[in-house]
Amino acid sequence: MTTPDDDAPKPACPICGKPVVPAHKPFCSKRCADVDLQRWLGGHYAIPGREDDALGRDDGSHEE
Ligand SMILES: [Zn+2]
Repeated sequence: MTTPDDDAPKPACPICGKPVVPAHKPFCSKRCADVDLQRWLGGHYAIPGREDDALGRDDGSHEE
């Protein structure tokens, strides 16, 4: 009945869904962190003529 482990939400790697490793937060491994990075960089250059340009840019309105 006493399972404090169950109380804490367990973050999952956004890439593969495995449990997150603190050392590689918010990913489960360096590999997944790399994959995400590649997606990020790749996505920026791989998408031809995105409509986002017409909407203007987010100038550092990062909420958190
Ligand atoms: Zn992962």
